Parts: sequence; C-alpha cells; structure tokens
Amino acid sequence: MADCDENCSSCDVEGCSDRTGPQELKVHEGTKIDKVIAIASGKGGVGKSLTTSLLACELQRRGKKVGILDGDITGPSIPRSFGLHEPPQGDEDGMILPEESKTGIKVISTNMLIADEGAPFLWRGPVLNGVIQQFYGDINWGELDYLLVDMPPGTGDVPMTVFQSLPVKGVVVATSPQVLVNMIVEKAIRMADHMDVPVVGLVENMSYFECPECGHRSEIFGPSEVEAIAADKKIDAWTRIPIDPKISAMVDEGKAEEIEGDWFKVIADKLETL
Ligand code: ADP
Repeated sequence: MADCDENCSSCDVEGCSDRTGPQELKVHEGTKIDKVIAIASGKGGVGKSLTTSLLACELQRRGKKVGILDGDITGPSIPRSFGLHEPPQGDEDGMILPEESKTGIKVISTNMLIADEGAPFLWRGPVLNGVIQQFYGDINWGELDYLLVDMPPGTGDVPMTVFQSLPVKGVVVATSPQVLVNMIVEKAIRMADHMDVPVVGLVENMSYFECPECGHRSEIFGPSEVEAIAADKKIDAWTRIPIDPKISAMVDEGKAEEIEGDWFKVIADKLETL
C-alpha cells in the first residue's frame, strides 16, 4: 500500500491486506533494550511504583543497565522517589535523553516534562497511548539490560497499549494483602495471560510490620496469602515487603536508592533467566 510506514498500530486504513495486527514499536537508533518488564497492579496505591523503583535498584546493584519508563502518566511518582525534578536534556540530534538517578538509573516521566509537578493531567485515552509510544520509541535510551515500565493501575486502555506495542518479556504484579485475595489481582494476571505475557513475579507489599524494638513481625492486614496464590497461579518468584514509615519517608526524600532490603533478590534472579 502507498504511504505505508509498516506501523499498523498507528494506521487506520480499513481493509488493508497488508495489516498484520498490533505491531511492536520501533525504537530510536541509539536505543538497544534487552528486556522490557512491565510492573502492573490491579489497583492504585498498593506500592506498584515502589516495586518498580526497588526492583530497578536491585538490578542496578547487580551491574545491570536499567531504565524506567513511568507509564503511570496521570499519577507519575517515579521521578520523586529518585529525587529527579529537572526536565530531560536532548542529545546532539535533539532526541530526548532520559534523566539519570544518582546511581545511573535512567528515568522518563511526564512529571519531568511539565513545569508544575502538581498540575493534574487532564488527558484521555488516545493521548495517553501516544505518550507511552513516544516514551518508548522516541527517546534515546542508549543500551539497557532492562527497561521497567511502571504501568497505570488497572486493566484499561494504556496497559493494553503497553502489551500490544512494546515487546514485554514478563510482568511483575504488585499488590497489598487486602487486594491480593480479591478479583482485582486475578484480573491483572488474566490480562497478562490474555496478552501471552508471563507473570514472572508477585509482590505482596505492606505484608507485615516488623517492630523496630524487638523484631516481632505482625501481619496487620491478616495472614499472608502470597505464597499460596503464587503457587496456584504458577508464579515461582514472589516476595513480601514490610510496611515501614522509613520506606515512605525515604521515597518522599528522593532516596529510593538508599532503602536497604533484599526483598527483590528472588524476582531479580527470575528476570535474569528470561
Ligand atoms: P502505587 O504506585 O501502587 O500507586 P506507590 O508505590 O506510589 O503506589 O505507594 C503509595 C504510597 O504508599 C507512597 O507514598 C509510598 O511511599 C507508600 N508506600 C508504599 N509501600 C510502602 C511500604 N511498604 N511502607 C511504607 N510506605 C509505603
């Protein structure tokens, strides 16, 4: 077909015999990404962004080159957890470069592109999808071992775009104990199944509180179900993160990289096998 750029996902010509269904986006010529991993949650506020940040830190500590695409466009919180507030720079060709955290994690987020970080994003589906595609395809990411995509919560339009147009190798699902046991997580897992992407990790955030005085663990939201649910869903890497005011304070101060804890070791081990 004339004028075909071979990108069926952005083309609305009906009845085209060359159409091949949803296609993966091309990346910028300076970009080489080994594994794209999506971090999803059925619901907001369960610690999906914390999971993305801490998993990135674990991989970075292993000497991997890591980038984070903050796809939670209307509630972006990744830059804040790394203390990044400057707008991204351009390369010599004018392509946008991601910002780098103190330890070299590359980050791109809508929050870095607007002057007022508190302003709401009053954008709807097609614009949101376009932002995801541009963050992936029009940014010079350089060479990355891992690109972690912090997905918007839920199973809507934007997560679908991520699955359809990015070569996602695996999904890590983040939940809290209350959310883990209901249909919300089931939906997130089924969406990944439907898109033929394996769920490679399950995170139970705010799983317990550990007393700083005596070390006693209290499962304040009830007994943990993560191991049983992971077994049932055949997810072999799972982890539990405690609820700890120090974690939220460090995130607020932009010091995610200084949070200590080996909670993501098992999931990072699993990602290395993909
Ligand atoms: P989501 O991305 O799912 O919306 P966030 O990761 O942004 O959730 O977490 C929501 C809020 O809860 C943030 O302020 C974060 O710092 C805080 N938080 C998340 N997990 C923990 C935890 N385990 N302990 C203490 N605070 C947490």
